[in-house]
Amino acid sequence: MEKTLSIIKPDAVAKNIVGEILNRFEKAGLKISATKKIRLSKIDAKNFYEVHKDRPFFNDLVDFMVSGPVVATVLEGENAVFKNRELMGETNPKEAKVGTIRADFADSIDANAVHGSDSEENAKIEIGFFFAKKEIF
Ligand code: GDP
Repeated sequence: MEKTLSIIKPDAVAKNIVGEILNRFEKAGLKISATKKIRLSKIDAKNFYEVHKDRPFFNDLVDFMVSGPVVATVLEGENAVFKNRELMGETNPKEAKVGTIRADFADSIDANAVHGSDSEENAKIEIGFFFAKKEIF
């Protein structure tokens, strides 16, 4: 079974729709193997998004990700990485398909409600960033 990391970002946590988003994962057949609410430090956020460090939006992205708590979740299931990306929708909510999380809940490309790993390889790294082995079931 494949695993992936989801992060419910500060905008969606502030809107009190954590349960609604987790419900979408479960309804799509993904299992919640681990979950926690956590406030990232600036160093955490910079490390997590290191691949984007040279992009013009990097500082805004880091500031946004530390602006409030997030909910990190390990999702498990067949094609979990792809399935989660489909449920999320495009990065820019204006381009996201109707019925996706970002189309339904996100306000902008910065405040876009969720993060999801983009490959199995990155999923392993990102899961390790948030969770110890003994926290994942
Ligand atoms: P994701 O995998 O769909 O989250 O997208 P990326 O990995 O490409 O980007 C990471 C995050 O950076 C996105 O979720 C956005 O919040 C932000 N981001 C990406 N591209 C842009 C952009 O062109 N402008 C701004 N302001 N933010 C962006």
